[in-house]
Amino acid sequence: MNVLSIDIGGTSFRIGAVRADGSLIKFDKVPTSSVFRTENVLHDLVAYIQMFSGNSPIDALAIGFPATLNTDRSRIVQAPNIAFMENLPVCEVLRQALNIPVFAERDVTFALCFDMEKYQLSERGLTCGIYFGTGIGNAMLWNGKPVLGRHGAAGELGHIPVWGSTIPCGCGNVGCLEAVAGGKAIARLQRDKYPETPIGEMFISHGNEDDLLEIVNGMAMAVATEINMLDPDQVLVGGGVLNMKGFPLKVLDQMIQAHTRKPLPCEDLHMIYTEDEPDKSVIGGAVYARHALENMEG
Ligand SMILES: [Zn+2]
Repeated sequence: MNVLSIDIGGTSFRIGAVRADGSLIKFDKVPTSSVFRTENVLHDLVAYIQMFSGNSPIDALAIGFPATLNTDRSRIVQAPNIAFMENLPVCEVLRQALNIPVFAERDVTFALCFDMEKYQLSERGLTCGIYFGTGIGNAMLWNGKPVLGRHGAAGELGHIPVWGSTIPCGCGNVGCLEAVAGGKAIARLQRDKYPETPIGEMFISHGNEDDLLEIVNGMAMAVATEINMLDPDQVLVGGGVLNMKGFPLKVLDQMIQAHTRKPLPCEDLHMIYTEDEPDKSVIGGAVYARHALENMEG
């Protein structure tokens, strides 16, 4: 079974045809702006998909967004980086045009599905995925299915309010966690205090200094918040920040343990620190679609 999987980001549009074993038949990464050229963005999307897939047989389509989706995963409710996709009947239009099942999800959920397959983890119980990039990506799976919440908006760990913080967040609120813990905070520190240091070398050059360790501590607090709330069966932590050169992974792990509740869940944490891979959410989307189809048939 071949799945066509798409990851639409604010900057890059990734598309891949993925075999059942997770290998790529074909892959493309292009600027998002080169796909969406007209006012009719869904028409542009269909045209690009048809051009990419040609005559090759495709059994399902997976499509991931950096966005809040509605509970039935048919529309984007809010997406600051791809606002032009908001409130359009994406799945319906794609299903009719391509005549195959279409599965839309948050990109972070696809990344978590990729990692669960890669590290051969059980779907049983509660799995939390926390990915530190520019923001904080968070997905939770209960027996392999995304935890959605009433409006589809669950898993916004990056927007937990931080006591005393007055930094404005991209979401419109003030004092959100992702402004002080993760890629945005590192970029701000680099700009304000270490303008001579390239961003990619922040941990190599300043990893032992208090202000950078404070950001790592903020990341640990994010992870510990989720653990203390939910007592998950397993927690996957990854993203671009953890994969920066010189990132103090051991220190992060110690800080997470320091903030988690004793004796449990702290003494029996199942932590998995994941590597970054460029095509994670594309291949993960195919994993997700395959499982969703199996569930529909079963
Ligand atoms: Zn926010």
